[in-house]
Parts: sequence; structure tokens; C-alpha cells
Amino acid sequence: MNRNQFLKLMATIPIATSAMKLSCLDSATSGFSNTDKMPVLFLGHGSPMNAIEENEFVQGFRQVGKEIPKPNAILCVSAHWETNGTWVTAMDKPQTIHDFGGFPQALFDVQYPAPGSPELATETKELIKSTQVGLDQKWGLDHGAWSVAKHMYPNADVPIIQLSLDVRRTPQQHYELAKEIAALRKKGVLIVGSGNMVHNLGMVAWSKLNTDNYGYDWAIEANTKFKQFIADGDHQRLINYSAEGRPFQLSIPTPEHYLPLLYSLALKDEKDEISFFNDKAVGGSLTMTSVKIA
Ligand code: ZN
Repeated sequence: MNRNQFLKLMATIPIATSAMKLSCLDSATSGFSNTDKMPVLFLGHGSPMNAIEENEFVQGFRQVGKEIPKPNAILCVSAHWETNGTWVTAMDKPQTIHDFGGFPQALFDVQYPAPGSPELATETKELIKSTQVGLDQKWGLDHGAWSVAKHMYPNADVPIIQLSLDVRRTPQQHYELAKEIAALRKKGVLIVGSGNMVHNLGMVAWSKLNTDNYGYDWAIEANTKFKQFIADGDHQRLINYSAEGRPFQLSIPTPEHYLPLLYSLALKDEKDEISFFNDKAVGGSLTMTSVKIA
């Protein structure tokens, strides 16, 4: 098709459609097409059993999946992929990783065959200028990613990549890194931090697992403060969590389940509004509190 033929063709297409076609042409050279700004999520994933159980939390994941536009792809920062250096998964077909032990066979039988996106991996690598990002071919999808994506997109028809947590970074450095991928929100990419705000497995009250909204006093106090700082946009106190005293220290005995929250918050801009869901405690020392930034 020469230029004249192209212009004649475009003249026959209604405006809205031709705008779309042009953006598709554009996307052939610059990765994903431009879209309205996508929401950002932080999901409290909790027990891996949420992948196969029916409960109010998975209903929350399903509901938020319906509320937001269907993404071109998902980029997940999972608590369960810690690395030296920063990596993105870059394979076509990520494996479903069963990175846990002591659960029923039914959980190990789950496969979540969503495709990867080498294209998004490359785009993410190019956006992050502050460090060299590695393209990973070995990881796949850990349960921080698939146990929630499975409920949001049960047909496994949205490509997913993961961005690792570099164990050498400070909380402030994680927060700054996240800002570098903000442009993906306008490429139809749903960025999901997957962890838990309050996450102390060593103190779980196993006998209270089925007691609705059971949280220790310190867990409730921390959860309330987390939400307050998030709602107020007081990110600096969340970044400097180790200075906040005992409830935060007990809630974050190790940082990996907390840091994905900082990635999600770093991507909030002034026009975004915050809403909370799945805001409950489980087994005393976990909270499922999740955040939608949109
Ligand atoms: Zn976890």
C-alpha cells in the first residue's frame, strides 16, 4: 500500500477507528499501544490456599479484576522473587512455580498458563535507567503472581511478567526504581504489587485461622497506620517503616512481603484516588488489606 492508498483507506474509516488504527501502527514500533492510564494494585495474597479456595478474599480479587479495564499485560512485583540485581522474566511461556511445601496435592496441580511477554520485559528493561536489568529465562510465575491472577483473569489470557526484588536495595531505592516504570501505566499495563502489609508467619495463631478478622492488637494498630499513611500520601513514613516502632517491626520481620506495597505507591500520581479492599486480619499476624490506586 502506498501513501495515497493508505490515506484513502483512512478516509473511509470513522475517526475513532482510524485513531485506533494509527495507534496500532505506532505500537508496531514502540511496544504496547497507548491507552488511558491503568490503575495500580497492591494485593495482599496471604496463604497459597487462596489459589484454590472460595472465600471473601478471592471474591475481592475477582471483583477488582472486573472493575478495571482489561490490561494488555500485567507486571507483577511479587514478594516471592528476591534476587541479586534487578531482573524481569522474559520467556514466552512462564512456568507455574509451586514455591511452597506442605499443602494439598490439589494446589500443586494448579497450572496457570498465561503467556509471558518478552516485548514488555524488554520495554521495562529499557525504561529502567538507574540500573542494569537482566532478562530472566528461568523463573516463571511464583504463587505471589499466579494465585491472585488466577482469580482476576481465570482464562489466563493476559500476558504476565514479573519484576524481581533486588535484595541489595534499600526501601527508598525500591520506591525510586518503581517510579521509572510509571510510563507503562499508559501502555495498558497493570502493575501489581503482591505481598502482605502485616506478615509475620512466626506468630500466626493457627487455632484462630478460621476466626473472622482475627488480628493481634499490634497487627490491627499497624494495619490502621498503614492505611492512614497510604490515604494521606505520607509515603516517606512508609519507606522509613523501621523507625515507626514495635507494631511495624512485628508486622515486617522481613521486608519482602512489604516492599511490593512501596512499588505500587510509588506509581500513584496526584489525580489517583485510593481505595482499600480485603481489609481483614487472618490468624492474628497477617492482613489481607489490598489497595486500588486509580
Ligand atoms: Zn507470600
